[in-house]
Amino acid sequence: MDGQEIESALPAPLRQALDAADARCARGGAQLTPLRRQVLALVLEADHPLGAYALLDKLKASRPGAAPPTVYRALDFLLDQGLIHKVERLNAFVGCVAAGHDHHGHGHDHAHQFLICRDCGLTVEISDHGVAHAVEAAAARAGFTAPRATVEIEGRCAACSAARAS
Ligand SMILES: [Zn+2]
Ligand SMILES: [Zn+2]
Repeated sequence: MDGQEIESALPAPLRQALDAADARCARGGAQLTPLRRQVLALVLEADHPLGAYALLDKLKASRPGAAPPTVYRALDFLLDQGLIHKVERLNAFVGCVAAGHDHHGHGHDHAHQFLICRDCGLTVEISDHGVAHAVEAAAARAGFTAPRATVEIEGRCAACSAARAS
């Protein structure tokens, strides 16, 4: 399958998200190449965060020559563009839920936090400014400037909590 055939098999909302990402990159003078677009599609269509090697395996279905640097370079680009985030705790990547809303003032690398379910692995991105400001204030009190916080909160999602209670 070539890139276009793969894309035509994707659900419309996903294709729209890819087009929006394309436009966002173009506005910033960057180019979402077919490879980068394909890696982004793999990240976005997954229902859970994917590690680089899982992405590489999926990529190899259509690009047998793909190697780890291929994936890492594409992921670095997507991270840099604010289209995806890395979940450090899982060493895996997810699409940014705010990527389509940069006109609302979300710059690249906006403050975000992850809630991760310890039972099912569900990972939810939230953007709580209270948390971001608290981290900034705490860092400032210790003499640190321009902190970059990766806040990952492990807990139990609503469905798993309900399953336990029943
Ligand atoms: Zn985000
Ligand atoms: Zn859960």
